[in-house]
Amino acid sequence: MRRQTNLPQPSADPVLQRYETQFRALRAQLAELWFFCKGTILQRRLTCGKPACACAATPARRHGPYFEWTYKVAGKTVNVRLAAEEAAAYREAAAQWRRLRTLLRRLEGLSRRALKRKGRLLRSR
Ligand SMILES: [Zn+2]
Repeated sequence: MRRQTNLPQPSADPVLQRYETQFRALRAQLAELWFFCKGTILQRRLTCGKPACACAATPARRHGPYFEWTYKVAGKTVNVRLAAEEAAAYREAAAQWRRLRTLLRRLEGLSRRALKRKGRLLRSR
């Protein structure tokens, strides 16, 4: 028994074929994505406020580094303190999120051009 799929038939139009090939390549990159998070990871070195502490006079002697994950929910900024050991994973996840956004933008643009081309082909039949 043949498996029923929703996959579209390849197009005979060379322009549309090129769009389809590009779309498949981008979709394959999408499948390589891993855990992602919105926002940015900040690294801070802070002063403690004690006038006698070395951090007060010398920026290089400030405490830290401290890591913070900052993102927005419904327009509000959320700050989450991270342990130094966690920072790299969150930084990688933030990079994955930027990759996802770039891929989506490219897939959307490509889809728009492909749909427009398809419409033109259908109308001229
Ligand atoms: Zn200090």
